[in-house]
Amino acid sequence: MTDPTTTPRSPEEAIAELLAGNDRYVAGRTVSTNPPEARAGLAAGQAPFAAFIRCADSRVAPELVFDQPLGAIFVTAIAGNVVTTEVVASLEYAVEVLGTRLVVVMGHSGCGAVEAAIRYRDQPEALPGSLPELIAQVTVTGGPADGEELPGLVATSVVANANEGVDQLLRRSPVIAEAVAEERARVVAGVFDLGTGRFELTRP
Ligand SMILES: [Zn+2]
Repeated sequence: MTDPTTTPRSPEEAIAELLAGNDRYVAGRTVSTNPPEARAGLAAGQAPFAAFIRCADSRVAPELVFDQPLGAIFVTAIAGNVVTTEVVASLEYAVEVLGTRLVVVMGHSGCGAVEAAIRYRDQPEALPGSLPELIAQVTVTGGPADGEELPGLVATSVVANANEGVDQLLRRSPVIAEAVAEERARVVAGVFDLGTGRFELTRP
């Protein structure tokens, strides 16, 4: 958003622009471009209107699915979109220094990190490398012993995990909580559906 006349100025305008951009993406009518003449302005600074914590999954790119150019949105990525200390700090920078009005915790359908957290809930040490530490931070609504079908469990857990991200951010960041209390910013959660391309707010 290099045009100051169209840059969202409130959290509500930011949500509206993201949802409108997602509509354009779903319909195959994206308008966002990154022309060479925009680079000088981008090099001089940034004022993103929204910030994200999203899963590292290759199929989840907010710039594309919300039809936004470089400079418009500030994105952190980590498998399972879990809110680590580094993610908190990055989003604090967006809100406090860059003046970002909206923070979005973005989950997605069929998330492998969420599925792993469900499958290995009772034996995380069976996972290789540093994965046990990662999936320990993913919120799930059940495990293998609960007898529920995996697809349903993944779907409900993806929502619960995204919504929990909002609580985590507000609990762990006085900086962001204060911006929300003063109505300078909002923190919301939503889920991106890989099959339809549609993003829906789960915690508006
Ligand atoms: Zn994922």
